[in-house]
Amino acid sequence: MERIFTSDTPQKIGKEVNLYGWIRSIRNMGQIIFIDLRDGFGLVQVVFDDKNKFRQMAEDAKPESVVYVKGKVVKRNSKNVNDKIPTGTIEIRASEFKILNESQTPPFEIDREKATDEELRLKYRYLDLRHERIHRNLLMRHKVINFLRNWLDNRKFVEIETPIITSATPEGARDYVIPSRKYPGSFYALPQSPQQYKQLLMVAGFERYYQIARCMRDEDSRGDRQPEFTQLDLEMSFVDEDDILKLTEEMFTELVKTLYPDKKITTEPWPRITYKEAIKKYKTDKPDLRRNKKDNNELAFAFITDFPLFAKENGKLASEHHPFTAPKTDQIKLLDKDPGKIVSTSYDLVLNGYEVGSGSLRIHDAKIQQKIFNILGIDEKTIEAKFGHMLDAFKYGAPPHGGIAPGIDRLVMILQNEPNIREVIAFPKTDKARDPMMNSPKPLDDTALKELGLIIKNKKK
Ligand code: ASP
Repeated sequence: MERIFTSDTPQKIGKEVNLYGWIRSIRNMGQIIFIDLRDGFGLVQVVFDDKNKFRQMAEDAKPESVVYVKGKVVKRNSKNVNDKIPTGTIEIRASEFKILNESQTPPFEIDREKATDEELRLKYRYLDLRHERIHRNLLMRHKVINFLRNWLDNRKFVEIETPIITSATPEGARDYVIPSRKYPGSFYALPQSPQQYKQLLMVAGFERYYQIARCMRDEDSRGDRQPEFTQLDLEMSFVDEDDILKLTEEMFTELVKTLYPDKKITTEPWPRITYKEAIKKYKTDKPDLRRNKKDNNELAFAFITDFPLFAKENGKLASEHHPFTAPKTDQIKLLDKDPGKIVSTSYDLVLNGYEVGSGSLRIHDAKIQQKIFNILGIDEKTIEAKFGHMLDAFKYGAPPHGGIAPGIDRLVMILQNEPNIREVIAFPKTDKARDPMMNSPKPLDDTALKELGLIIKNKKK
């Protein structure tokens, strides 16, 4: 007989079914034993009454063991209906029961994960992920990504993968680097974003690119930051700012209406506020514009626009966004006179007080790009070594282009009402950038160090 999932049991009333899964809990009610059986798609209650020959086995079973249950699906009487679970109107009367793989007592109670030390949860993440809430978060994350892929596919966007082992691209953080064995003393970098590649894809004539892109940034972790995270990275040619903002607004509005029909968007169309106004009015460039900040179902999207092109850092000018951001056309004349005053084409997407993405129109003129590098104080040799390929590419028919990169983790965190992005990532790092399950990072052995031509001077425990 074929296996069915717990979620399909309510359609099988009166039938015998085969179920496989894990014992979530065992309740001993004296004569009757109840087992909550969990599989990848839900939960169902299994009943063993006092005449059942498997009753003792059910009573002695260990939670989290893998089991097989055969049984008849019966309707519960109305006072036993549990409207908290989708299978709460039925239960399974067991006629066969097998323990396929007994579990040891788990190191923490899966249902009490909120009270459990996070280090322990992450060390045994495969157990933590059994929790329905986290399971649901990952399911919804999948649905969000799937929605975005289909939506963009319907608008002629092409998903293109870009390298992970690459050269540095500046996004304001430190790079994670990989030592090269073939070229001792040389290093690859993991991408802080696919920024340069996506621009080069525009020069290559793709016009509409996107990627569910992993980005790696070595910066101090916080609740809404991880060393690696996922962006919906997108780029378009022959567009202006309004085209990109409109597309973003339409895409996420439809996403919310389709996948989260209970949520409501505070203001439509989404407010567009200049950086200057935001700072003046809200004292922040990520204002929380919800009317009721306690309402989990309220989503206040906004765009913050017209960021300055440069910020002052230690008396020097640094890119406020990244060095490929274009100034507003009427500001180009200030490049020689007063670059610190230039207003850029960059914008942030803000949701409920979080920055969930940023983007800009890009420079596609080699002379202007060169000038920006000069203003940033990068010497000619470094410009050539780090960005020569961009300057070259702009000499071979680069179209005007621009894009945005909303962060998937933060977005899903907010949509799922979670306080932390770790709750919506399958295998996150701790807030100290460690993975207690895989025990990373860890030292390299001497043979590997030698092969890579590396000598470690300061060993830190
Ligand atoms: N690469 C930028 C970032 O990661 C986004 C963009 O400008 O499209 O923030």
